[in-house]
Amino acid sequence: MSEDRIVSLDHENSPEWFYLDFLPVDPPCILIGIAHPPLRWLKENLAKYRIREMCEKRLGEEFLADYHQPWGFGGILVPYKHKPGAPFLEYTITIPPFETLTEQKCSECKGRGKRDGMNCLYCDGVGKKMERDWTRVNRVAATLMVLGAIIDKPLMA
Ligand SMILES: [Zn+2]
Repeated sequence: MSEDRIVSLDHENSPEWFYLDFLPVDPPCILIGIAHPPLRWLKENLAKYRIREMCEKRLGEEFLADYHQPWGFGGILVPYKHKPGAPFLEYTITIPPFETLTEQKCSECKGRGKRDGMNCLYCDGVGKKMERDWTRVNRVAATLMVLGAIIDKPLMA
């Protein structure tokens, strides 16, 4: 018996349900396009997903689920281009500055910017205290975790 046919699995066999892109604007954005079927699934089944509940407990806030408004944790998914009849709805996640310099001295290098002859790792050699916005980072991570779980395996709730 000979194999005379090659079986190919491509986009025709598995429909594209989402895509990710990057917008080099200021501030930069992650662009996520989601097809209508997984969005409908998400809307109807979000309450069943344990990962959503776990993330809500960890962050102490609710996963917002009105897809026509900013949604996800803290409303980080913002409606972008919603053309009538388009197969995907697009949303952006703004990547804001994560570190902000304060006027306080860095407590690790006492404001010198150096430790043991090298640039201080805590202030990057600036000598001033850096504040880091973990809330937003945690919201983005948790929102993508919930979306990833649901879009990857929409029937496994
Ligand atoms: Zn320092």
